[in-house]
Amino acid sequence: METSTFQKIKRRAGKLFDSRLQSGRVLEVRHWNPTTLVEIDLHLPLADIAQWHDIPYIKFKVDDLTFRDYTPSGWDAETCTCTIYVDAAHQGPGSKWAQQLKKDDVVSYLKIGSTNHRPVATSAVVALGDESSMGHLLALQKMVLPNTRFSGGLIIGNEDHRKLFHEYFWSPLEPVARKDVFGHHSLMEWVLEQQYSLENTVFYLVGNNTMVTQLRKLLKHQGYPSAQIKAHGFWS
Ligand SMILES: Cc1cc2nc3c(=O)[nH]c(=O)nc-3n(C[C@H](O)[C@H](O)[C@H](O)COP(=O)(O)OP(=O)(O)OC[C@H]3O[C@@H](n4cnc5c(N)ncnc54)[C@H](O)[C@@H]3O)c2cc1C
Repeated sequence: METSTFQKIKRRAGKLFDSRLQSGRVLEVRHWNPTTLVEIDLHLPLADIAQWHDIPYIKFKVDDLTFRDYTPSGWDAETCTCTIYVDAAHQGPGSKWAQQLKKDDVVSYLKIGSTNHRPVATSAVVALGDESSMGHLLALQKMVLPNTRFSGGLIIGNEDHRKLFHEYFWSPLEPVARKDVFGHHSLMEWVLEQQYSLENTVFYLVGNNTMVTQLRKLLKHQGYPSAQIKAHGFWS
């Protein structure tokens, strides 16, 4: 009895969400080698992110009543297309969804939200993240003009992926090897080697929550005020 009531509520909730979904189509899927990083080109004809001021995210339906956020690394307003980068090295509905997607599949999304991350006027914008924030950091790179103001470090655990990052993108972001589980020690070591000035540097921290929280603490300990640290945790 209880199960059937629960199933009914679930079905109703599913219908409610489904009626609010927008859809798009997969144009291409590229699996990096090894295949734990998935690059997905999407056509989203109903999306209106041409005027974005902050870096957006798209809340995709990845399973029944299950939604996950992924970040377009840019947006082509003429063709309504974008690319997302999914870190799919772990077990999870989002990871599974990305691994199974193929050309011409239909994708559904609930909304396009904003992360409140936009480049501020300063001489050095430093981005720090992990594999899950690749799309976000590439989007930030595109928004920072002139691009000489932009630099940063991106934790990428797999050595082949680090090489591919250089091969696939022109980016001042430096792939950094992960020596600790969440990557914050590796990134902090890397930051200290760069000798950024205390006055003009604004940091953007994105990726797993432990990395973001610990990096923020470490940067504050280094003397950077809160206003110079923009942090957004993605997962824990
Ligand atoms: C605003 C925003 C934008 C995001 N953009 C992106 C993006 O562009 N690309 C992207 O890959 N992710 C992105 N994420 C993160 C993504 O939505 C989460 O990682 C999501 O939880 C993964 O879902 P899942 O169903 O695969 O795993 P979950 O069911 O959430 O988690 C299952 C298990 O896997 C672990 N886990 C979750 N994510 C990871 C990971 N990346 N690496 C290792 N272990 C993990 C969890 O700790 C948990 O133990 C974004 C998150 C936010 C909030």
